[in-house]
Amino acid sequence: MTGIRPGKVVCVGRNYLAHAREMGNDVSSEPLLFLKPPSAVIGPGEPIVLPRVSRQVEHEAEIAVVVGRRLRRATEREAAAAIGGVTCANDVTARDFQRRDGQWTRAKGFDTFCPLGPRVVEHIDWRGLEVIGRVNGAERQRGRAADMHFSIPFLLAHISGIMTLQAGDLVLTGTPAGVGPLQAGDVVEVEIPGVGVLSNPVVNEDAA
Ligand code: MG
Repeated sequence: MTGIRPGKVVCVGRNYLAHAREMGNDVSSEPLLFLKPPSAVIGPGEPIVLPRVSRQVEHEAEIAVVVGRRLRRATEREAAAAIGGVTCANDVTARDFQRRDGQWTRAKGFDTFCPLGPRVVEHIDWRGLEVIGRVNGAERQRGRAADMHFSIPFLLAHISGIMTLQAGDLVLTGTPAGVGPLQAGDVVEVEIPGVGVLSNPVVNEDAA
């Protein structure tokens, strides 16, 4: 484990236009928020377990922000100053349940569906961040923080107007285009240059 033990994991959907379009959506006028349970968190090298009940589990490479201090109704400037660090995240999603359920708790909430790591890097400029997703070494996703529809400080400020963000909470900032299915035997990587590579094997529930 990385030792990352967030109190809560707040996620943003459809924050890159090209990904919203590939899912048949547009970006929203406000951030689309959802939560992943902290029980879904795993560390580098730990297996992503494909639930027997889902037929379509997909990777979503994302930039994760670790909240450095308590934020409540913050301005963007206050939010930018409260960025405690950055790590790689994989917002693993059961796409079939996401489509079927109407809300995303099940689709996003299975055990092992929130790989994080390999480390938290502090004092990194969010503006220059880039995230890359690979499956079995082949690049599938690439996005830059500069291409986000809502910037990282805007997201933190917006979320803090709804729920108090505590030090150690995580915000997953959305995935770029190129999401796709995972199968047992795959190795999925999320890289943020300057932060590191988060690598996780994929296994079937029966093998776990
Ligand atoms: Mg996502």
